[in-house]
Amino acid sequence: MWDRIIGKLRRIGNDAIFYTGFFADNRLKDTQHTILMYHGIDRIGGTDFNRRHTGKDDFVRHVKFLKKHCHIISLHDFFQKKFLSGKPNIALTFDDGYRNNYLYAKPILEEAKAFGTFYITGLNTSVDDILWADYLNIASTLTNLTISIYGEKFAQKNGNYHSLDSDKNLYSIIKDERANYEYKQLMMEAFVDIPDFKKDHAFDDYWKLMSDEEITQCGNSKYIEVGSHGFLHNNLGTISLDLATKEMRDSKNYLENLTQNGIVSIGYPDGSYTRATLDAGEKLGFLYQTAAEGFLFTEDETDSRIRDRKGIYSCDSCANDLMINL
Ligand SMILES: [Zn+2]
Repeated sequence: MWDRIIGKLRRIGNDAIFYTGFFADNRLKDTQHTILMYHGIDRIGGTDFNRRHTGKDDFVRHVKFLKKHCHIISLHDFFQKKFLSGKPNIALTFDDGYRNNYLYAKPILEEAKAFGTFYITGLNTSVDDILWADYLNIASTLTNLTISIYGEKFAQKNGNYHSLDSDKNLYSIIKDERANYEYKQLMMEAFVDIPDFKKDHAFDDYWKLMSDEEITQCGNSKYIEVGSHGFLHNNLGTISLDLATKEMRDSKNYLENLTQNGIVSIGYPDGSYTRATLDAGEKLGFLYQTAAEGFLFTEDETDSRIRDRKGIYSCDSCANDLMINL
């Protein structure tokens, strides 16, 4: 009860600081340097459809706030500890290589002269050309089927697919137990008779990935750094080291070929890595590696090859969501 009241008061306070700017400079400590993790930037925002995306208007407000009360620096400068004094230093990263990053985030960043790193997979070249999580989100809103994967049946409960055997959420099963690409493909194939949402442009913001040409254009921008997000978006800490190394190498080659630039940054999909993938990544030339929502190993704290990131998600208050991460 008290937790809820205190949480609510904190949210009101955070919103007030964000929208008015009052006390922002007192609230933010100049040593509080942070790498923020965004995903998609969509036109509408605030949707229950996909919490990973941030609304375009909210993102414009975020950038304005950060420009005023923080220093937005490049990921390169962040890792090199080239921090500017007086305010917190913030690096912006965007996961998954959505087309909406090219359409909305890129021009907003360029206009504000703010740096950002887009972590991009090679999935747009695959037959599926979609992230499994987006497919599952969209399928969950469009259908109410009973599906079967390896004989295990799943049906909807509270808007999500759950196993009829174990009651586990399909999303969690894939994230935590079935990291391999084959299972994700089987999941997507299990939704037979689903409406062809890929042909409906109203859905584009929620799944469409950047094309090769768009990735090249991002690479040409003074303010955008292109980084790797693995090739197939598998959790690199869960699959074998050989496969993880192959994914990192394939992704690096693919993006370097498109951008004609060295790709030196990697954001681990789902924040999944091991100490061995850090070494393998370094050998491949990934100088700057990032976790998500917390380091996985205590040694990482003092390992200059990897930094943590804090996620921004579309929720009931995007202002609060930014402020609690600063
Ligand atoms: Zn991702």
